[in-house]
Amino acid sequence: MLELVNRGYVYRAIPISDEVETYLRQCFGADRKMYNLHVAYLYDYLEKNDYQIGDKLPSLKKIGMPTVSAFKKQAVSDDHVAYLYLVDAFASNEAKQHFNKAVTAFNKIAYKKQYKKAALKRQKTLGIEPTFRDLKGMPKFHSRKGSKASYTTFNQNGNIYIEDDILYLPSAQKSSVKAVGLKLHTHRPLPQGSKIKNVTVTMNMKGQFDVSICVAFPKEITSIGTPNRILGIDYSQSYFFVDSEGKKANYPQYYRKMKERLAKEQRILSRRVKGSNRWEKQRLIVSRLQNKVANQRKDWLHKKAYTLANRYDMIVVENIDLRAIGQNKHYAINQQDNGFGNFRLYIKYKLEQQGKYYVKAPKNFASTQLCSTCSHKNTALKGNVAVREWDCPSCGAHLDRDINAAFNLKHYGEYYTKDEILLQIVVA
Ligand SMILES: [Zn+2]
Repeated sequence: MLELVNRGYVYRAIPISDEVETYLRQCFGADRKMYNLHVAYLYDYLEKNDYQIGDKLPSLKKIGMPTVSAFKKQAVSDDHVAYLYLVDAFASNEAKQHFNKAVTAFNKIAYKKQYKKAALKRQKTLGIEPTFRDLKGMPKFHSRKGSKASYTTFNQNGNIYIEDDILYLPSAQKSSVKAVGLKLHTHRPLPQGSKIKNVTVTMNMKGQFDVSICVAFPKEITSIGTPNRILGIDYSQSYFFVDSEGKKANYPQYYRKMKERLAKEQRILSRRVKGSNRWEKQRLIVSRLQNKVANQRKDWLHKKAYTLANRYDMIVVENIDLRAIGQNKHYAINQQDNGFGNFRLYIKYKLEQQGKYYVKAPKNFASTQLCSTCSHKNTALKGNVAVREWDCPSCGAHLDRDINAAFNLKHYGEYYTKDEILLQIVVA
């Protein structure tokens, strides 16, 4: 069957002129400005309405968040930031989406009432009480310095296209820049018949530009029919994952190896005057180390997913709460670095490309508590992470917690296969 496949391709890119570079920087600025207007409005509301630590943030509707165009009007008349009208409208529209995402993400952890380390330190040394602004995950102002800048734009009627290795992006009607071109370093071509859906332009701290081009292209996919080789994968705090053949993933501890060096460089950074040349220089060193770990990790995840997708016809994973993943001590750098979540995605599309099956067990499937020998449900295990091995009270089988869970996931896949409900499983 011919199917449309979505894929993202990242290329290093160079703006074709200084004018274009200025335009792109203004797009980043518009994204940042719009995001910050949302944050300011939210903070103002929380202060006036006596927000209690631990509460979820109210919906944008409830707090009467102005629309993007209302914000634009206001910003232009108050602060004379005319460039909001001179750049791609998507740049500011996307900011609202990002803000929404940040609010949703915060609401998931609001109950934890966790403050940032720096705020706690301030409280200890200077006696300054932390406020809601110091809560972990609270949407915060984006600063011009300190992080990479980006904006996303969408293809409408072919206004994004590539010609002679130059990527052209839409401009704003009122802008004097007519051709927003970026020369691409195309180390690998886009697939045949690709249609560009959207493009995200980012500028890293060194001022280099990257474009991530999301394309859809047709691909012939033939189903393999009934799956024979089925694998269950259980997320593991210590090994990253354990599979139903009893194999542990042995995730190389890149972050742990780098930790000391990173800590040392970060200490140097913290001693330098923020914004100074030496601070900037040190910041690059820190970000380069962080990037390196992230790349090593991504590379490993892709290779592992590739191997598994080639070896098995169906892979069953648990529907685990991914917030927990950040807590893996060998793995975590920050909450956003969603390792296992990405791993599942890689497996999914690598399987589907070959007409194979990716199955996510439903949330209520108690893969950990079921005995894989007799299906007895041992509720004593619920929430009890400390128990690594247990004996089934019903059949007496001695079970390894992780391998048992992986077995159950495999059984889940087999069950569906035999009952021929397989067809109903959404593979798309
Ligand atoms: Zn049993």
